[in-house]
Amino acid sequence: MARYTDAVCRLCRREGMKLYLKGERCYTDKCAVTKRNFAPGQHGQSRKKLSNYGMQLREKQKAKRFYGVLEAQFRKYFEMAEKQPGIAGENLLRILESRLDNVVYRLGFASSRAQARQLIVHGHFTVNGKKLDIPSYIVNVGDVIQAKEKSQGSPKFKEVKEIFKGTVPHWLSVDVEKLEGKIVSLPTREDIDIPIAENLIIELYSK
Ligand code: SF4
Repeated sequence: MARYTDAVCRLCRREGMKLYLKGERCYTDKCAVTKRNFAPGQHGQSRKKLSNYGMQLREKQKAKRFYGVLEAQFRKYFEMAEKQPGIAGENLLRILESRLDNVVYRLGFASSRAQARQLIVHGHFTVNGKKLDIPSYIVNVGDVIQAKEKSQGSPKFKEVKEIFKGTVPHWLSVDVEKLEGKIVSLPTREDIDIPIAENLIIELYSK
């Protein structure tokens, strides 16, 4: 399946929530969800009551779109989550949250997960001192992520330093001058600020 390239704001409107796919614009009045909070298309304003299956499907789509993950990879994460001890839904969210592209975004080194993916693929980051260009890499406690020395002087990373907001989730630490972040612990469900009923996703895949 090809990656979705249509206007990404339609995805947010379809899910009825901000998925934060466009960086800074998502925090302004220009956000399409702020301006038109109904589904796109001719029948977008008529809200249908969803079946149980429909609700499960929507939760899965939301999570996939939020993290920018395609179906096959998402199912793989579900299978990993089921094998891990603990609650499968929480495991699934922790795995998604631990993707390198999400971590680069959470550290404030990119304005969206899509931009983080692009920077990683273009080879701008190291993990534990080695170049790593795989956005789906799952981080571990103690991993150190850093913008490559050669990349640090680029306008993009100079801007990161200028606009850095000073806070990151408490499972991460950051040294913005060095453009370096560290995984202090793995995120718990409380750390993940995504309004998704992950149990419905597990129900969907468990059928
Ligand atoms: Fe979604 Fe951001 Fe577009 Fe708003 S601006 S609809 S949050 S992608």
